[in-house]
Amino acid sequence: MRPQILFPLFAPVTSLKGVGPRVAPLLERVAGPIVRDVLWLRPHSVIRRTPATLDRSIDGQVMTFDVTVDAYERPRARGQPWKVRVSDDTGFLTLVFFGAYGDQLEKRHPVGARRIVSGRVEDDRYGRQMVHPDYIQPPDKAGEIPEVEAVYPATEGLPARRVRAFVEEALFRAPDLPEWQDPAWLAREGYPSWREALERLHHPAGEADLSPMSRGLRRLAYDELLAHQLAMAQRKAARRREPGAKIPPSALADRLQAGLPFAFTGAQARALADIRADFAAGERMSRLIQGDVGSGKTVVAMCAMADVAEFGSQSALMAPTEILARQHYETISGPLAALGVGVVLLTGRDKGAARAAKLRALASGEARVAVGTHALFQAEVAFERLRFVVIDEQHRFGVAERQRLQAKGQAVHLAAMSATPIPRTLELTMYGDLDVSRIDEKPPGRTPVATRAVPMPRLPEIVGRLRDAVRSGAQAFWICPLVSESEVSDLAAAEKRAAELRRELGPGVGLVHGKLSGGEKDAVMADFADGRLSVLVATTVVEVGVNVPNATIMVIEQAERFGLAQLHQLRGRVGRGHRESACVLLYDPPLSRIAEQRLDILRRTDDGFVIAEKDLELRGGGDALGLRQSGLPDYAFADPFAHRDLIAVAGDDARLIVSQDPELASPRGQALQVLQELFDWKAGLALRDAG
Ligand code: ADP
Ligand code: MG
Repeated sequence: MRPQILFPLFAPVTSLKGVGPRVAPLLERVAGPIVRDVLWLRPHSVIRRTPATLDRSIDGQVMTFDVTVDAYERPRARGQPWKVRVSDDTGFLTLVFFGAYGDQLEKRHPVGARRIVSGRVEDDRYGRQMVHPDYIQPPDKAGEIPEVEAVYPATEGLPARRVRAFVEEALFRAPDLPEWQDPAWLAREGYPSWREALERLHHPAGEADLSPMSRGLRRLAYDELLAHQLAMAQRKAARRREPGAKIPPSALADRLQAGLPFAFTGAQARALADIRADFAAGERMSRLIQGDVGSGKTVVAMCAMADVAEFGSQSALMAPTEILARQHYETISGPLAALGVGVVLLTGRDKGAARAAKLRALASGEARVAVGTHALFQAEVAFERLRFVVIDEQHRFGVAERQRLQAKGQAVHLAAMSATPIPRTLELTMYGDLDVSRIDEKPPGRTPVATRAVPMPRLPEIVGRLRDAVRSGAQAFWICPLVSESEVSDLAAAEKRAAELRRELGPGVGLVHGKLSGGEKDAVMADFADGRLSVLVATTVVEVGVNVPNATIMVIEQAERFGLAQLHQLRGRVGRGHRESACVLLYDPPLSRIAEQRLDILRRTDDGFVIAEKDLELRGGGDALGLRQSGLPDYAFADPFAHRDLIAVAGDDARLIVSQDPELASPRGQALQVLQELFDWKAGLALRDAG
């Protein structure tokens, strides 16, 4: 239950003075639905109001003058402004007001009165003026004019100054909360209290107070990171208390491994050892296997499935698309079947008697392994004894979907496989509730993909080379540009490119895009995989991880607009076989310096982890990496790059808290509960629930 002390912060924005039915939707757009969101608005800059005499005024600057009202000048025609002449000992200034409220103005600021005025000064041919001053105050209220003022995001109908007034009120309402951070640590770092940190943010002494590196913002970021890490640590601890089947390593898996035409890489061996340690522990496993496409994750999972099979239980491997499921089936069914382990493939395509037979095999336990798509967690699918679930591209499934599959067994172990390498610095924020194995070594014998950046004007040359390559039997992917936010124009661009390539290269050019149905997409992909098409033009929806060993060329248009991780994954589709492969990154010149450096990283390395780390460094956090879709939380204060040092500290802190005070019952624990409520990060909230 939410503690009472937080009620004012969780009240709707309409509880703020001046926020009625017209303003509320605007404020919600800028901040969010509740007072807390207004309190958390980040100023994007500051205005410095320089006090000066009129002879020192500077065109275009925001300045504050101490003046006397001299005269009022009525508008001469409709639509003309009121003008008020003011002066000090050194000169004159005209205040300009549009809208006919001169009488009121005059009443408030009569001729002869002394006023402090502040606003933007403009010099034009009519002289020095200030249109709609931000402040006009009598001398005794000059203190209400801040010398430095925070500027907030605004929206049409809600100017930044009104937003600031609402923030001001939210700040006024913000209670003093019990301190949840370790006081000794706060003192050592020189961090302010929570409320003081917000004060500094909204009443900055200068630009520096808005920097992510300021003490105030670091404190707020740490609060947020700790709330998140704590929730994940609690979830991890809770899961550890759930029993999991104790599954010993099997002779079957050893025979399986011995029968493979290759030896495991060190990283694969370590990943399998990690899984086996989890299997042996008697706790439910939730492990993420991270590794580039082709690093050998599936083969590792297959060996773990052999352990499960010999134990007399079943495993299920779920992939997000039919074509991926089929490929996994092709990878693992042969070796497993050779050792007498029955494998079935279950997808949405299966109908009638064939489907019934597969369902029977799973229900009876005759099949020890199921590979499939979403079809696996449908209600009619029952397992005799499901103990191990493997999810490929786990971020493409919802929490509920994963849970429905797991619910088909008892004490089910979970391994998730991801081909999106996450920089180590971000691992904790994204997967703090999972155990992670990294497969950071490639199987030997792969030829690196020769990667080149080529400016768009040289397109004809690239097409010419592609024609030669296709004539000698090569296959190529051609990834179309991200034209815009709109799928429609992306599609139009892809269709146009496909038509042009068909003119140049002949009919063997296929097109896949997001508007095709699953079946249509699969058909085109299959034509490409089986060599009936030599070029596959695609929008970015091409299935991650699809294996077409004969494809040796990857062309990516407008490469500068893709995230590096994405480019790396796209490139990973070629260079699977032993043949020389090439990747052409087409870009629209001129490239910015950062864009140039980014493309250069791709030319220099093909290690996904290194690429992700470098990209993060170059672009400095934000959502540059497109990580948000893959689960990077949308923090209010924490910046995964600027505050990366704090992530690790918060992770350690959270683990310590959970081990010493699992119920958060101590005084600090209770304050931490307030913190979690404040940020909505509670243990039970399955942010990225994998188990
Ligand atoms: P991932 O699931 O990580 O994309 P896979 O497990 O599907 O990778 O392996 C990709 C390809 O590499 C498969 O054809 C597999 O047989 C092969 N492979 C896996 N591990 C090795 C290894 N250690 N040495 C050589 N080839 C391997
Ligand atoms: Mg794979």
